[in-house]
Amino acid sequence: MTETVKKIAVMTSGGDAPGMNAAIRSVVRTSAYYRTECIGIYRGYQGLIEGDFTPLTARSVNNIIQKGGTMLKSARSKEFMTKEGRQIAYENLKEKGIEGLVVIGGDGSFTGGVVFNQEYDFPVIGIPGTIDNDIYGTSHTLGYDTALNTAMDAIDKIRDTASSHSRLFFVEVMGRDAGFIALNAGVGAGAEEILIPEEDLGLERMLESLKKSKRSGKSSSIVVVAEGDKSGKNVYELANYVEENLEEYEVRVSVLGHMQRGGSPTCFDRVLASRLGVKAVELLIDGKTNLMVGLQNNEVVATDLEKAIKGINNIDMDLLRVSDIMTT
Ligand code: ATP
Repeated sequence: MTETVKKIAVMTSGGDAPGMNAAIRSVVRTSAYYRTECIGIYRGYQGLIEGDFTPLTARSVNNIIQKGGTMLKSARSKEFMTKEGRQIAYENLKEKGIEGLVVIGGDGSFTGGVVFNQEYDFPVIGIPGTIDNDIYGTSHTLGYDTALNTAMDAIDKIRDTASSHSRLFFVEVMGRDAGFIALNAGVGAGAEEILIPEEDLGLERMLESLKKSKRSGKSSSIVVVAEGDKSGKNVYELANYVEENLEEYEVRVSVLGHMQRGGSPTCFDRVLASRLGVKAVELLIDGKTNLMVGLQNNEVVATDLEKAIKGINNIDMDLLRVSDIMTT
């Protein structure tokens, strides 16, 4: 390790995710360990443009590992999408003597980082923080495990009322482009059907499967629906469709929404955040740039940022088969 980098900065950008605070803590403490100064940037790229900076020491991040959200706040910045905005951002970094940037966020935030690096040759390392788990180059993004467990716990609770009243519940979980939360929380909570963006189950097949479930003696059913499922109907339209076609069912809808983003991160997310933060800082100190740190086969690895943005994190479709077998 060359240890020539004397000052770096860290920010959280895009949608917040549980574990972001744990990642900030790790970046700050790893910097302190290597005697590199660390500056926190509030509100992502918008704060970078506005010069909304704060020095962070090892003690500034006491007692945040267990907290949801992000102490540095997050934002989406239209101004950073412009050349003029990025020029101001660069001048702010230069003025403060900052030599590298850790961006904790999703693929949009990484795209901003790559564009910035191409224009100003400024070192950028990404840490994947999004509950959707839709980033190539890591088996888990920060916040995914926590969101998954939050969704599963909520479905368990809905199951209690579904079985007490012999009802069919449609439960919508987050995931516009990826069904990781729906599929895994659905299998974990024993859902009768799971609708995800990666596969079009077909409405007829869903009706058949619900009829089969009723015939097999089940008095309640849960269908987990990802926001972006392929049926072409939203969760309320799906519920109406089933109610019209399966009169024996009393149907209800529950949309879990933003509660899936909040809460204290799981142990898995805290450990992941700690590991990724260490690697991110070590890469910057080593003079590396345009990389995303992630987890593969339980090893922390670096992936080219552009590959991470363009690649697809494929879902394990065999889990749908497992789910089918479990509903026998
Ligand atoms: P999430 O997965 O939660 O949506 P994200 O990081 O993908 O997180 P975005 O809103 O897509 O969130 O991106 C965050 C910010 O990154 C944007 O508000 C913008 O400031 C910056 N950004 C995204 N794309 C670009 C781009 N092409 N050029 C410059 N900046 C960009």
